[in-house]
Parts: sequence; C-alpha cells; structure tokens
Amino acid sequence: MKENLSFDVIVVGSGVGGATFTDYLTRENPGLKIAMIESGPYRTKEHFNQREIDMTALYYNRGAVLAKNLQLGIAAGNTLGGSSAMYTGVSFRPPKSVLKNWKENYGLNFLTNDYVTKSLNEIEEDISVHELPKSWDNQNNQLFQAGAKKLGIPVKRLKINTKNCQQQGFCNLGCTTGAKQGTLEVQIPRILKHGVQLFCNTEVITVEENKVHVIVNDAPKGTLPNAMASGSYEFNAKKIILAAGVLNTPAILLRSTALRLKNKNIGRYLTLHPAFNINGIHSKTISNYRGFPKTVYTDYFSETDDFYLETSFYFPGVTAKNNPGYGELHQEVMKNYDKMMSILILAHDKVEYHNRITIDKKGKTVVDYTLSKQSKNIIVKALKEATKIFFAAGCEKVLLPASNKNPLLKDDVNELDKFISEKYLNLYKTPLSSAHPQGGARMGDNKTTAVCDIYGKVYGTNSIYVCDASLFPTSVKVNPYETIMLLAKWVAENLLKSP
Ligand SMILES: Cc1cc2nc3c(=O)[nH]c(=O)nc-3n(C[C@H](O)[C@H](O)[C@H](O)COP(=O)(O)OP(=O)(O)OC[C@H]3O[C@@H](n4cnc5c(N)ncnc54)[C@H](O)[C@@H]3O)c2cc1C
Repeated sequence: MKENLSFDVIVVGSGVGGATFTDYLTRENPGLKIAMIESGPYRTKEHFNQREIDMTALYYNRGAVLAKNLQLGIAAGNTLGGSSAMYTGVSFRPPKSVLKNWKENYGLNFLTNDYVTKSLNEIEEDISVHELPKSWDNQNNQLFQAGAKKLGIPVKRLKINTKNCQQQGFCNLGCTTGAKQGTLEVQIPRILKHGVQLFCNTEVITVEENKVHVIVNDAPKGTLPNAMASGSYEFNAKKIILAAGVLNTPAILLRSTALRLKNKNIGRYLTLHPAFNINGIHSKTISNYRGFPKTVYTDYFSETDDFYLETSFYFPGVTAKNNPGYGELHQEVMKNYDKMMSILILAHDKVEYHNRITIDKKGKTVVDYTLSKQSKNIIVKALKEATKIFFAAGCEKVLLPASNKNPLLKDDVNELDKFISEKYLNLYKTPLSSAHPQGGARMGDNKTTAVCDIYGKVYGTNSIYVCDASLFPTSVKVNPYETIMLLAKWVAENLLKSP
C-alpha cells in the first residue's frame, strides 16, 4: 500500500524543542495535519529499568559522542522524548544579561521582559517547576552547603520539574515512574491526542523545500513497533521544522545540498557549556546514591569567573570514566564510591566561529570543538574553588583531572596553585563532557552572521525552520531546557503568520 505522507507541518525530533513547538502549534491550530519524525525508538517509562549498562541505549553512542580531537564527549538522547528523557530537570530561566545580549547584538527583540516572564510563568506551571524542600537534601547536598558556608560562598536552591517524584535518583537513565515532566510525559501524550502522527526509528537524511527524505530503521527489540515498514520514504509538507538537536539539525542542513544554501555559518558558533564531574573522598559514608541527585548550586562565580557549581551524582560506570588515574589508583578510588562527594563544574564557554558541527564524507556528524585557553582557565579556577569546598566539607582526598598530584590531601589546600593548573589539564586522560550543546543554526536578524531569522526560518529557504538549542546565538550560561522551550513557543506562535 502506498502511504500518504503529505502533511501541513513536519516536525523532526521529539525532544524539548520539537515537542514543545508541536504542543503550542496544535493548541492554537487543532485542524493541522502534523507528522513528528523521530530517529530514536518508541520507548515509554515502562521501558526504563534503572540499569546503567542497558540504559546507555537511550543515548547517542551509548552516552558520549566524542569530539574530533577526543578531548570531550557529548551526551544527548536518541529516543522518543530526546534528551528530555534523561535530563535531570534542573530548571533555569535565561539570565537577564544573556537576553540583553541576544536582543542588542542579534536582534532577538521579541525577548522583552514581559514576553519572557509571561511565557516562562506559563511553561513552568505546565511542567511543574518547583524548588525541592530542604528535607530532600541527601548527604552530598548537605555537605556541599556545609562546605560552601564555611568558605562564605552563598548557595541557592535548584528548581526541578517533577510531579510525585519518588527520589529514586535515576533521572539520567530515564524516569521509571514518569515523575519527571519532560516531553515524554507532558507534550507527547497531548499532541498524540490532537492527532499528530508519530514516526519513530525514522531518520531524516536530507530536506528540500517542502520535502523530507527519511530512512525507517527496524525498531530495536523490546521497543514499540514502527508505523511503517523499514525502507526509504519521501514525506511532503508545507512547513518543515528541524528540531533534531545541536548534533543533528546543522548536519541535516549541511547534507541537504539540494537547498543550495551558501550560508557559511551553518554548524558554526557551537558552544558546549563544558563540564567536569569531580569527586572528593569523605571519611564517612555518603548516601549520594539515595534521594534526588541535585538540590543546590552556587552562581557566586558566574558573573566574575564564568562558571557555576552544582551538586551531582553519577552512576558507577560514568564515575569511573570521570575519575583520573589507571590501575591500582583508579581501583582504590572506585572502592570508595560510597564515600564520594560530587560536584559538577559548568564553564561558560565563549562563542567562537571555529567551533562547529560539520559532517564527514558519509554525511555523519563531526563535532569540531577546541577548548580555548580562556575556557581552560575558567575550568582551572572552577576546579580550585570546588576543591576548597570538598575539603571544607570534610573530605580527606580530592581527585582532579587537572592536577599533578592525585589524590590531593587536606594540607594541599593551602597550595592549590602549585598543584592545579592549565598545564596539568590533560583532556586525553580525563575528557570533559557536555550535556548542554548550543548553537550551530543560530538565530539573528543579520543573515551574514546567522543561519535563521528571528522566526526560526532558515535564511534562503521558504519552508524550512529550526526549533531547538541550535538556535542559540551564544551560550545561555545556565542549564538550557527552559530557554529552548521559550524559543519553541515563539516559533510556533509565529509559524503560520509568515507567508
Ligand atoms: C544527561 C543529561 C542531563 C541533562 N540535564 C539537564 C537539566 O537538568 N536541565 C536542563 O536545562 N538541561 C539538561 N540537559 C540538556 C537538555 O536535555 C537539552 O538541552 C535539550 O533536551 C535539548 O533540546 P533539543 O530539542 O535541542 O534536542 P533534544 O531534546 O536532544 O531532541 C532532539 C531529538 O531529535 C532526534 N533526532 C536527531 N536527529 C534526527 C534525525 N536525523 N531525524 C529524526 N530525528 C532526529 C533525536 O533522537 C532527539 O529525540 C541534559 C541533557 C542530558 C543528556
């Protein structure tokens, strides 16, 4: 039987950008015929089993898409719900200083205080964003607060988007109870009720004006079956929305040579919000593996030194990867898993033309990103401040990726400059990670420096739009999902207004 694959709107990707966009579009325009095309399998909360080794299947490349220079691994979701299926749910509004920059230097004038506040109030209510009570702080979160207090560093409480959370702590392996209010739980059920047709295991290879070329792959064992037989298909639509995430939206545009786009900015200005998860070893057992992983953070250094620190928790496999050393030293470290205090450092990297998503000869995504000297210095400073917090909180040892001495001991705290420096930051031994890639199809009112106009339409096309984190002109400097939702709402509201 020949399928009828003609739609009013096709949305590529079911993550934060794609599902939020579709939700807003269907609310305002219930009669539209919409297809959502998702390259990942159809999994729901019943498919998650809290086993690290199994659940890495939710991610691209089992959890780390390596940069070309092997210095950094990017975590992103390749499953229904995109990266919202395994995000932690830490909810930040975009900082005012970032929005000011986006308005003044990139023409995103729609981001008025009124629009941003009204939209985010509505979004946060819809997805249950709230502060977690103090009674939920596990020992890792308590120790972070105690250490920071001793050093006079103010700590703030994080906001999270959960409903009836059971504090199981497996957010990054998929929430088995559906408490996390990502797109799997909120927007996707709603848009399916509105009649949106969902095509999973369906990878968009290229787009043309009003056309999408896809390959449908077999559904992996244990996931829900496909809507169509495996094979190649052409879909048609009046409007095509690319929300395939930063690793893939720019790659689709670069592969789509039939569009004849001459825009040199496609894939460029990639920022990664590079992160290190670091550990101190405490004298006492720390039940960091119980309770909600993150309840507090400090932005004390954000404006002056371009980083912030969050509490964190990772599963044994990722923890082993994050800790420096080999053989006996590494084994010794891992034996102390139940005494580990964890801090995540997040660096605000500068937006630079040379950092980009590109494609190889087969059209596959290549992350071409080099950490600048400035970003390295930010990380070194962040490592020093986090080390002070570990020791102030009572840790006996600290393990660092940028130290010539591992582990650092309590007395070393007085000589951190001697032990922690850029020259000891060996990213081949302990690679950085990123879960917040941004940019690559940046939005702006100037087509010589941007890829999309301020309505998300790709310059030089009539029917192709972008609606995901690729739109960010610079790093948003906080966990990005709320800002992606804000832009998705805007693109949806304006889609049918433009010709
Ligand atoms: C482990 C982890 C923890 C995180 N924690 C937080 C947090 O606490 N707070 C926060 O703000 N952010 C967090 N993030 C980041 C946040 O999840 C992302 O910024 C956000 O999901 C990005 O939205 P997006 O729409 O750009 O892409 P995604 O949500 O990644 O969605 C892209 C979708 O497109 C699909 N796709 C890709 N290529 C194709 C193709 N060719 N054809 C069809 N479909 C395709 C993918 O499978 C995916 O489903 C976290 C991310 C990870 C990985």
